[in-house]
Amino acid sequence: MKNIVLFGPPGAGKGTQAEVLKEKYQLVHLSTGDMFRYNIKNATELGVLAKSYMDKGHLVPDEVTIKMLNAEVEKNAGANGFIFDGFPRTEAQAASLAELMDSKDSQINAMVALEVDDEILVERLLKRGETSGRSDDADEGVIRNRIKVYYDETAILKDFYQAQDKYHGVDGVGTIEEITERLSAVIDTL
Ligand code: ADP
Repeated sequence: MKNIVLFGPPGAGKGTQAEVLKEKYQLVHLSTGDMFRYNIKNATELGVLAKSYMDKGHLVPDEVTIKMLNAEVEKNAGANGFIFDGFPRTEAQAASLAELMDSKDSQINAMVALEVDDEILVERLLKRGETSGRSDDADEGVIRNRIKVYYDETAILKDFYQAQDKYHGVDGVGTIEEITERLSAVIDTL
């Protein structure tokens, strides 16, 4: 099994690359952001709760997020491996993911991080907001808050995976194909 954490700030291009990589490596793509949006669209209890955090650019509480992610992993018991996109975002989530993988006699093989400057991120997200219908992309204040939350709570996970020799940074600026190639160069070594 190859299990990869695709990492990077909001707007770095994780979702776009995950769609390509899942086909290329036959992995299951799990995006916690997509799971929350699906629940919002279907007006589930989880969706209503998640929306109250997401609309402010805050993280959804760990307990809720971890429970949802674990259930999705269980649903895909036969998978060849996973691309985790948008998870883990806190140290508690990273610890929980390690435990979950361990319980399956597996592990996270690598964190591959897309590196993009903040001003480019804001530009990309505002542009995406024009067409995505995502309310968290429509407001520059919310976008900047998401980037701040990333630095305050999520960026530290680089240290978590670096301590296990699993961190790989990749330049996230270029064409989609160029970036896929850079990511593949890392994944092919795993
Ligand atoms: P982006 O990375 O572009 O901000 P996502 O789709 O990954 O977009 O996430 C959108 C929002 O969903 C986040 O701002 C956060 O509120 C919530 N979310 C997604 N994943 C997590 C997570 N692992 N933990 C807590 N909240 C999350």
